Amino acid sequence: MAMLGSQPEGSPEAARAPLGGRLLGCPACGKELADGQKACSGKCRARLSRRRRTDALRARDEEIRVLLVTALKKLGEGAP
Ligand SMILES: [Zn+2]
Repeated sequence: MAMLGSQPEGSPEAARAPLGGRLLGCPACGKELADGQKACSGKCRARLSRRRRTDALRARDEEIRVLLVTALKKLGEGAP
């Protein structure tokens, strides 16, 4: 009789790394964050809010650009 009991040896205990993926770090500088914190310091928080505002402005600029391009295209088509 064949004994097919060749299960992979080794403990099933995987390495319990402390880096579980919840610790993302400060989005501004990458520093470790305390629980519930969004930024490591007021400086970084200000930087982040400024970046968010810049992103919003850029999105707005892009929207305006698209509208302008559409308007110019319409003008280029000439009057009907
Ligand atoms: Zn930071």
